[in-house]
Amino acid sequence: MSKKVVIIGGGVIGFSCAYYCLRAGHDVTVVERGAPDRDCCSIGNAGMVVPSHFIPLAAPGMVEMGIRMMGDPESPFYIRPRLDFDLADWGMNFIRSATAEHVDASGPLLRDLQMASRGEFVRLAKEPGFEFGLKKNGLLMLCRTRHALSVEKHVAEDANQLGIPAELLTASETAKLDPDVEMDIEGSVYFPKDCHLRPEQFLQSLIHFVKSNGGSVLWNNAFQCWIQHADGTVSAECQSGVLDADYVVVAGGAYSPGLAKPLGLHLPMQAGKGYSLTVSKPIQLPKICSILTEARAAVTPMGNALRFGGTMEIAGLDTSINPQRIRGIIKAAPKYFPQFKSEHFEGIKPWAGLRPCSPDGLPYIGPTRTVKNLLIATGHAMLGLSLAPSTGQVISDLVSGRTPKFDLRLLSPGRYLGW
Ligand SMILES: Cc1cc2nc3c(=O)[nH]c(=O)nc-3n(C[C@H](O)[C@H](O)[C@H](O)COP(=O)(O)OP(=O)(O)OC[C@H]3O[C@@H](n4cnc5c(N)ncnc54)[C@H](O)[C@@H]3O)c2cc1C
Repeated sequence: MSKKVVIIGGGVIGFSCAYYCLRAGHDVTVVERGAPDRDCCSIGNAGMVVPSHFIPLAAPGMVEMGIRMMGDPESPFYIRPRLDFDLADWGMNFIRSATAEHVDASGPLLRDLQMASRGEFVRLAKEPGFEFGLKKNGLLMLCRTRHALSVEKHVAEDANQLGIPAELLTASETAKLDPDVEMDIEGSVYFPKDCHLRPEQFLQSLIHFVKSNGGSVLWNNAFQCWIQHADGTVSAECQSGVLDADYVVVAGGAYSPGLAKPLGLHLPMQAGKGYSLTVSKPIQLPKICSILTEARAAVTPMGNALRFGGTMEIAGLDTSINPQRIRGIIKAAPKYFPQFKSEHFEGIKPWAGLRPCSPDGLPYIGPTRTVKNLLIATGHAMLGLSLAPSTGQVISDLVSGRTPKFDLRLLSPGRYLGW
């Protein structure tokens, strides 16, 4: 039976939920506070689809690494110190989650979500109206030091054990794989199942599908408050009026905790600011996307352009550009790709986006115990594009009364409330 679904937030997660709900025959409205030409985290990101990322952000060694990086103004990681209960709570939960047990428990689930999403990207790339430049030629973890390569070698072994193909390559084997770019590296790990795409085009394709298949998109229409009903359901009051629904989906990215809080739903989350710089005429254009492992930067060919992205700045809901972090990204590029010089980045306007980061590195996807018709789809941190199709499928299954094919327990929106 067709259900009325209201989705709050028009990023890649909100529109993926809309796509799958529409395909399942539901009546869908997306509520987005911005205009059609707004910016959001789903637009300027690195465009990678990453089965290789089966280790959540909260993993052993991450806390120590973060502390080491804090002192360097150009480092890719920074927490702006501030007296803030939510930040302290998030930090404590991050520390508690950064264990080998958590990584072991999350790996199979992330693998399944990632591989299901990848399959959907491949299918969607053939669907009429979807044009988003999908390239299925893998990802390289480029390492300049033996130490980084030996760490990545262990990750590759774990990946292979989980059934995610990964190959350890020497510098010359890496060069053969991507001969169009000169690299100064010790070696790499190649993940052949990873892909890359144009994130803004993918989002546009989803929006086009929603609009041409009977869905409504209410632009310039911020969610304002909840109207709670005696039967335990809610309606969403937006700028244009009250929207009643069989299901309301919260997909507001880094802004989601503020949307859920009035309903007593505590979603620990911090905005993880990242930047990207898109070089429109790069001196060399690699074919394969890569991660500059020690520098923690991502490099993605996008048509004839090349996008460099990185940093994780925990500094609140603030999208201002920190020039020192941008310098960090620019300085990293020539270390791996010696043909690139800092002059090649002159005049390029940096882009900033806020990743919605949960403390355990896993998204919040699923129903809530407190409100009968509320579904949550957020907290994807650095994996939001990659996990968008599987998130949309889960939400559509829940709306349709079907049991999702993934075990959602680790993703419960109530996991910090004891359910
Ligand atoms: C530098 C960088 C590189 C990245 N690279 C990758 C990558 O390669 N692969 C990958 O998978 N992920 C990547 N990510 C992460 C990815 O971009 C995010 O996880 C993803 O975009 C989150 O999508 P979202 O829809 O949850 O949030 P958003 O894209 O932020 O969308 C949320 C939307 O909700 C709207 N909204 C908020 N409040 C309200 C309200 N009150 N009423 C109505 N609307 C509201 C906002 O306007 C916004 O449009 C990267 C991120 C960064 C910063």
